[in-house]
Amino acid sequence: MQARHPDDMQIFYPGDTGYDEERSGFQTGLRHEPQVVFAVENAQDVEEALRYAETHGHEYAVQATGHGLTTATTGVLISTRRMNDVRIDPVTCTARAEAGAVWQQVVEKAAEHGLAPLSGDASDVGVVGYTLGGGYSVLAREFGLASDRVRRTEKVGDVVTALEFELLPVTEVHAGEMFFEARHAEAVFEAFHGWDLPDHVTPALTTLGDVVRITFASTEPFDVGHLRVAPAVKEEFSVKPFSEAAGRPLPPHAYQGDNVLVKGLPLEALQRARETAADSSAEIFLGVLPLGGALGAGATHLIKLISPRLGVEEQHEEVFDQVRPFVVGRSRNFRYAVG
Ligand SMILES: Cc1cc2nc3c(=O)[nH]c(=O)nc-3n(C[C@H](O)[C@H](O)[C@H](O)COP(=O)(O)OP(=O)(O)OC[C@H]3O[C@@H](n4cnc5c(N)ncnc54)[C@H](O)[C@@H]3O)c2cc1C
Repeated sequence: MQARHPDDMQIFYPGDTGYDEERSGFQTGLRHEPQVVFAVENAQDVEEALRYAETHGHEYAVQATGHGLTTATTGVLISTRRMNDVRIDPVTCTARAEAGAVWQQVVEKAAEHGLAPLSGDASDVGVVGYTLGGGYSVLAREFGLASDRVRRTEKVGDVVTALEFELLPVTEVHAGEMFFEARHAEAVFEAFHGWDLPDHVTPALTTLGDVVRITFASTEPFDVGHLRVAPAVKEEFSVKPFSEAAGRPLPPHAYQGDNVLVKGLPLEALQRARETAADSSAEIFLGVLPLGGALGAGATHLIKLISPRLGVEEQHEEVFDQVRPFVVGRSRNFRYAVG
């Protein structure tokens, strides 16, 4: 049986009913192996968990959803999923989200007031983890990083207990996607790389095994005609509620992934990276996010790799090697099951 704290915070030890459930998240290939899990419900609970970790000389980790698990802790796990209040202030156009809140909650509540957050392409990702890593929204090139919109951070030690951030007066977006057979990948990559992108358009290109997928979104109309370099397996492009561009939850699964930020990426290097990923002994999905626009002039692209299993660091490095001379950094987001 798990111990019960006087203020009702649940605390789980290995073997307790609920311990496995509490330490498990979206990533099924890796799990925290904590000596104790504090299922925090408020800032006082976080304080108590941190005090425990300090007193017992344990390291600690925070988990909201497990989407961004990099290395598992064997110390104290602070599980924030119960601490998920979300409030919208339509007067100041801000939201306050507690540590365990996910984007879907904010998207839904903000839409009631004709507002939208700078959320990404998966609605079950945690607001705090995403924002601490920068936060590349589906409208990133138009409005910048989610972290740029933070007005106030509530913290206990290094643990964020709530964030207050700006919302945008966005209800609808021009958004869609195109799928092409993988045999057309070279031509699709070339068209995507050569896109004379208006600053208000945020696209992404991803290889997904048999197909290549391009997504795009903006609050203003734009043209994607030049991307039709091969017959699309599927194409959809329309004006829709922001929530429809903000992604849907995926089922939990095992995955490993990493990314690099590059500047001045030539087409040849990108094509080499694509070929290396396609020919790899591991299944690798390669994603390209053009940066610029409101994201600034630092890096021009973010290249991310994801594989549906762990133990593929070497294969990922072989792909990153193809763009190595252009690497200027790495995003804290898009790192999965890597140290
Ligand atoms: C399917 C999928 C889609 C994604 N889409 C996007 C996207 O469109 N744009 C984008 O930018 N990113 C995206 N990401 C990356 C995601 O933003 C990061 O993985 C992020 O870390 C997830 O946060 P989380 O709280 O959901 O995950 P968790 O695994 O619960 O947390 C991740 C890490 O964040 C830190 N953290 C979480 N909460 C706190 C807290 N309260 N205080 C201090 N530290 C904390 C911890 O270091 C923790 O290990 C996506 C990831 C996945 C798996």
